[in-house]
Amino acid sequence: LVQIRRVRKSFGAHQVLRDVSLEVPAGTVTVLLGPSGSGKSTLLRCVNHLETIDGGRIIVDGELIGYRQSGHRIHEMTPKQIAKQRRGIGMVFQKFNLFPHMTALENVVEAPVGVVGRARPLARQRAMDLLARVGLEDFAGHYPAQLSGGQQQRVAIARALAMDPKLMLFDEPTSALDPELVGDVLDVMRELARDGMTMIVVTHEIGFARSVADQVVFMDGGVVVEAGSPAEVIDAPQRQRTRNFLESVM
Ligand code: ATP
Ligand code: MG
Repeated sequence: LVQIRRVRKSFGAHQVLRDVSLEVPAGTVTVLLGPSGSGKSTLLRCVNHLETIDGGRIIVDGELIGYRQSGHRIHEMTPKQIAKQRRGIGMVFQKFNLFPHMTALENVVEAPVGVVGRARPLARQRAMDLLARVGLEDFAGHYPAQLSGGQQQRVAIARALAMDPKLMLFDEPTSALDPELVGDVLDVMRELARDGMTMIVVTHEIGFARSVADQVVFMDGGVVVEAGSPAEVIDAPQRQRTRNFLESVM
């Protein structure tokens, strides 16, 4: 579903992604591991065109991200085209960024109604189903401030799912949570994976990576150092850099 080909990205003189290539087949989960500053967030942001890339290409479901091809010419998309493309890709961040003045239900209903003009009663019904799916059917009327961090993050996941994305990107979704709240969020993600959602997940939760990932990718210094199954990359890493990193997080 996702093809990332030789993607390059610099901020000023600092090259953050150096020829990163990655394939994510439909219905599979890829976990991105790597030390701070290795380019994980930047790569996710490029997939969503929150960053423009300097070279290479990213294709999601057959569509070039951020650009249109006509004949031999490549044009940058208009903001409207970019927004439309981005709707097909759900993103969940470390910080949940819920609207504080809206209930959980309203947070989930907002985009389908406000952005794509779905009928409110239908959107509410679907939002209730999604809140149930993340275990929050009893919290639909709660405001973010009345929810734990883990509950807020699950609302954020439901909100992303409300746009029926074909791909979900998670950037350290549990790293801002108290330890006892991490499990519920990982369980929701595990369930999503089981239901066949295509996901790219940046996380240091090695247990999650081992049990859920189809592919584990270890990045360092803007390159993919090692990629393979959890058994290969986590349990039998080939590279010293990977071994050092795993020792530091396990
Ligand atoms: P972490 O584990 O800390 O989240 P990361 O692997 O997600 O790290 P990135 O956030 O992708 O790393 O950052 C990679 C490098 O790019 C870092 O050195 C960072 O300082 C730099 N960087 C990221 N965004 C910008 C920006 N908008 N402007 C300048 N430099 C940036
Ligand atoms: Mg990051």
